[in-house]
Amino acid sequence: MTDPKPKPKKPRGVAQLIAGACIACGARCQSVCPVNCVEMTDTGEPIIDAPKCIGCQKCIKICPASALEMYFTPEEREILAELAASAMPVEEEIDPEAAVLAKKLAEYRGVWVFIEQTEGEPARVSWELLGVGAGLAQTLGVELCALVIGHQVEQLCSEAFAHGASKAYLMDAPVYWHYRTEAYVEACCHLIETYKPEVVLMGATGMGRDLAGAIATRVATGLTADCTGLAIDDKRNLMQTRPAFGGNIMATIMCDRFRPQMSTVRPNVMPMPERREGAQGTIVRDPFTVPEESVLTKVVEIIRDSHSKGAVDITGAEFIISGGRGMMSPENFSILQELADELGGVVGASRSAVDAGWMPGDRQVGQTGKTVRPKIYIACGISGAIQHLVGMQDSDVVIAINRDAGAPIFEVATYGIVGDLFQVVPALTRQIRELKQKK
Ligand SMILES: Cc1cc2nc3c(=O)[nH]c(=O)nc-3n(C[C@H](O)[C@H](O)[C@H](O)COP(=O)(O)OP(=O)(O)OC[C@H]3O[C@@H](n4cnc5c(N)ncnc54)[C@H](O)[C@@H]3O)c2cc1C
Ligand code: SF4
Ligand code: SF4
Repeated sequence: MTDPKPKPKKPRGVAQLIAGACIACGARCQSVCPVNCVEMTDTGEPIIDAPKCIGCQKCIKICPASALEMYFTPEEREILAELAASAMPVEEEIDPEAAVLAKKLAEYRGVWVFIEQTEGEPARVSWELLGVGAGLAQTLGVELCALVIGHQVEQLCSEAFAHGASKAYLMDAPVYWHYRTEAYVEACCHLIETYKPEVVLMGATGMGRDLAGAIATRVATGLTADCTGLAIDDKRNLMQTRPAFGGNIMATIMCDRFRPQMSTVRPNVMPMPERREGAQGTIVRDPFTVPEESVLTKVVEIIRDSHSKGAVDITGAEFIISGGRGMMSPENFSILQELADELGGVVGASRSAVDAGWMPGDRQVGQTGKTVRPKIYIACGISGAIQHLVGMQDSDVVIAINRDAGAPIFEVATYGIVGDLFQVVPALTRQIRELKQKK
């Protein structure tokens, strides 16, 4: 019996530059090369180290000028011609680099949400993240897990189950009573390295931003801050959408070569999931702790924002009446306060009004202010710049009052009133008062 003829391997070739075709686009070919075999000349053209090239064709696919092509030796061309002429099955060579990457990524599974808490009191954004995390976990076909770190915080695991998690990783020890970067980073990195989640979500709060950045650096992965949209592509990658270039465009950022994929999301950006009373889940208790003496930071006292005089948390308000540059002066904000008092709401502001010193910074709505999701948002004398819209456009009802019928705020408004706010706002307040008196 004769051995069956071995299947011929399809030659991969090497990349080469087509003379005069490179437009020096900024070294895109170099940036995608997985084996670092592309060097750039002073004039921005690539030099390919042919013996190192594995023929993956990534540079060819990315080149905007079609300035690269595959080169095959005469022998390789002969094999290619033979393969094309015969009906012989070809053994496709698996790209070794892609295979290693796929294996590495496959080790990571599960969507995790960090449950932020201060002295046992959970941050609402954690539940909002479980809401969006549930959709991601369902698309990926994996578990939605809560990451609970603190001291005597086991009840937060039950809360996490009620908000959609099916598993909670719990680290409960006195050293975690107060948030301190060193201890929490050690704890989170230990869990990530042990259980390998593919997605980790955190609130874009002071704590979340601090922690997420430190973890991403430690575990050597990517982090996208302040995401406004999260979805999964057909290769299990997390599509992380956020405003970019001053809010003028929305960028979708991927982290397709590293795990976990990490994102922070601001409070109020994602809707609150429905509470499933009595929902059960698995608690994985991890005994890992950090020695107290290794944590250099000591928390002496927590001074909460809401204790400071006059501070208002607009993010939790159901009714927000915001004023912009059209208010003309700080005194005029009193008419907004009157309307807010009638509705049981609070007064917000655009950045122009804050920059002018008419309102304090904690009232600012928008990209560099707060993101709000009230039942009713009334924008008075606010033009509707994109940086303002990203902070309020998910409100249930938006009422815009502006004397310019072409103001962009009307594009997101449920109801638009074209008119002078100094007439419209007091008229609204009067009307509400009358209606209340009739009741
Ligand atoms: C990086 C960056 C981040 C930013 N972050 C934020 C942010 O977080 N939040 C934010 O708000 N902005 C932000 N901005 C600024 C933003 O681009 C706009 O400049 C700002 O929102 C405009 O504020 P405004 O609408 O109050 O003022 P204007 O754009 O000047 O609009 C005033 C409006 O009032 C109307 N008006 C005037 N008088 C009356 C009247 N009597 N009755 C009715 N209507 C009247 C006018 O028709 C006009 O439409 C940011 C900008 C940058 C570059
Ligand atoms: S074909 Fe692949 S390995 Fe070769 S230069 Fe292009 S990107 Fe690099
Ligand atoms: S990607 Fe194409 S155009 Fe850009 S530097 Fe490389 S060869 Fe030149």
